[in-house]
Amino acid sequence: MLKIENLNIKKDNRMILREVDFEVNAREIYGILGPNGAGKSSLAYAIMGCNDYQPYEGKIVFEGKEINNLCIWERAKLGITLAWQHEAHFEGITVEDYLLIGMKKMNRTEAGEALQNVLLDPKAYLKRKVDKTLSGGERKRIELAAIFTMRPRLAILDEPDSGIDILALDSVVGFVRNLRQRGTTVILITHRADVAKIAERAALIGEGYLVKEGSSQEVVEYFESRCLVCPQFR
Ligand code: ADP
Ligand code: MG
Repeated sequence: MLKIENLNIKKDNRMILREVDFEVNAREIYGILGPNGAGKSSLAYAIMGCNDYQPYEGKIVFEGKEINNLCIWERAKLGITLAWQHEAHFEGITVEDYLLIGMKKMNRTEAGEALQNVLLDPKAYLKRKVDKTLSGGERKRIELAAIFTMRPRLAILDEPDSGIDILALDSVVGFVRNLRQRGTTVILITHRADVAKIAERAALIGEGYLVKEGSSQEVVEYFESRCLVCPQFR
């Protein structure tokens, strides 16, 4: 479904992604694991088509079509979406409106169901505002609920557990599985081995390189035995 070929991204004269190659199959959960600063978010921005992250070299092919030259909203129209590592924060808009905006066909029942999916009580949250009165974890969940209502073809989830209590990891796992169940292909970005285990296959990114690819089990073992013992990342 998604093919990344020899992707190179340069920022301030420094390569932040180098010769990255991988493929994601339709309806799979594909993990991108790596320590902080590895280049994971940059990869997410490049796939989404954010302005400042145009490939310096390489190709991004989505469902057989090269999308390098498509801008962010053109890619969104193809069904690609990104849940940002730093969660949504809109003053003045209600949770319900925020969820309805992204739907192809407005459906209030579905907005409530999407909240239940991220373990938020619709009665308590639909009429609240997506502003700083919500905690970071609550906003993160609401953003994930919005991804659910969008029914994207490909969802890139950049650290979907960030800001969410570690005890609530199960809720993130459940959410990702439900999303895939509905037909969405998921790229799951994380620096945590326990989160990467949700994926079927995964790639390990380190200092801009794709260091290892394989089953998530293999990649997690490699990460735990090499990256986590490297003094740089302690
Ligand atoms: P990760 O998400 O894996 O923590 P990032 O993709 O955020 O990593 O960052 C990878 C590296 O690229 C970091 O060293 C970061 O400072 C650098 N970087 C990312 N975006 C930019 C940018 N817009 N300008 C300059 N450097 C950047
Ligand atoms: Mg990041």
